[in-house]
Amino acid sequence: MTARTLSAAVSHVGRIRANNQDSGYAGTHLFAVADGMGGHAGGDVASAIAIRRIREVDREFPSAHDAEFALQSALIAANQLITETVFEHQELTGMGTTVSALIRVGEQIAIAHIGDSRIYRMRDGELQQITSDHTFVQRLVDSGRITPEEAAVHPRRSVLMRVLGDVDAAPEVDTAVMDIQAGDRWLLCSDGLSSYLAEERIRHALASTMDANQVTQRLVKETLDHGAPDNVTVVVMDVTDGDVVDDDEAATTVGSAAAPLTFEASTGRKPIRLPTILLHPLKVSAAPEDSHFEPESDQYFAELIAEDRRRRVRRRIGWTIALVAAVGLLVGAVFLGWRITQDHYYVGTDRGTVAIYKGVQQSIGPIALSDVYEDTDISTASLPEYTRENVRSTINATSLSDARDIVDRLRKAAETGQDQAGTGGDGTPSSSPTPTPSDSPTEAPAAPAAPAAAGTPSPGAEAL
Ligand code: CA
Repeated sequence: MTARTLSAAVSHVGRIRANNQDSGYAGTHLFAVADGMGGHAGGDVASAIAIRRIREVDREFPSAHDAEFALQSALIAANQLITETVFEHQELTGMGTTVSALIRVGEQIAIAHIGDSRIYRMRDGELQQITSDHTFVQRLVDSGRITPEEAAVHPRRSVLMRVLGDVDAAPEVDTAVMDIQAGDRWLLCSDGLSSYLAEERIRHALASTMDANQVTQRLVKETLDHGAPDNVTVVVMDVTDGDVVDDDEAATTVGSAAAPLTFEASTGRKPIRLPTILLHPLKVSAAPEDSHFEPESDQYFAELIAEDRRRRVRRRIGWTIALVAAVGLLVGAVFLGWRITQDHYYVGTDRGTVAIYKGVQQSIGPIALSDVYEDTDISTASLPEYTRENVRSTINATSLSDARDIVDRLRKAAETGQDQAGTGGDGTPSSSPTPTPSDSPTEAPAAPAAPAAAGTPSPGAEAL
């Protein structure tokens, strides 16, 4: 079986960035994205250099492994070109670029990849990420330190561990050869797409019946609808039955590689650009060009992990302090509340006799906020009926001596059988009857059924 590819490439500066540092290419056999970085200057130059060099291998290969080798060599050659360009243009020091590329050879593809641009394969409705991000957070995920969900919001999620650039003469490029099938839809994209559009939305767009061109447009539009804070580049390749049409005219270059390189004339007068959020791990260390990248990368990785751990510890300490403060405040409030209740007294009944209580009648759940302070020998049963009801409803006192005065008057009432002034409740029995469902709904609720409550003093009013 021979197959014909249908493809498209789109690159957009996005809604925030001042210039497009991405580049993309959809050719006959070769498809690629590159996401440049370089802060003040150079990101667009780096990705353009890479794509222009790599598209030289958009040709027929006898085998996928030949294509794999050619692609890897092209990436290394692009790396060398970037290094030479920086040598001639010192203001571009620190520029670099990701590259994710594939070459179609019959029913196989060769892949080369470095950085955090991505290649996805859509097959039978399932979207699979084929490349692995060369990022700090991906290494944390791989080593089980964080989950992919935590990686998506990690403050260092933009830190790259590997790129093409002027810092390493021999960058480590991932390569692979894979089988393809008719019906496959392959997506190459910069992180401006994959970081801001949920994978399910990407899957949904790729699953549609739209052709490659419409799908790329749709994905870019959806990213713009989501704010597109970064440059976004999308390349789609469909695998169908049929011959590969060798048509150089159909090749599409997008992004900064599509524009003329202007850095030679613009030395020293580059426009001010928004700082890129992509940080190159070795920008600070200025590694010698003939040294290998990996040992320094590991050291940097260890430093990042240590810093990450310090940040976590700081955050934990912050949370602990906040928690202790909150608990302290709560305990203080409860203690204050308890102290306030301890300045109050009331008179009520305790197992058939009149007693002075310290505290307030209310309780918090199972915790009573009052205690018997003084018991008396006055039998509740010996009190005149109205007074007895008042005592059962409890009588607030303004102080301990006031409570004792009330007790004296109750004793008198018990002896004489006459209700005494100053032994009336405040008309709000603590267990006020609540309306039952059979009560008329128009009846005013919670009206205390206090017999002869009118005209009695309301000591409760000044309590609390
Ligand atoms: Ca980007």
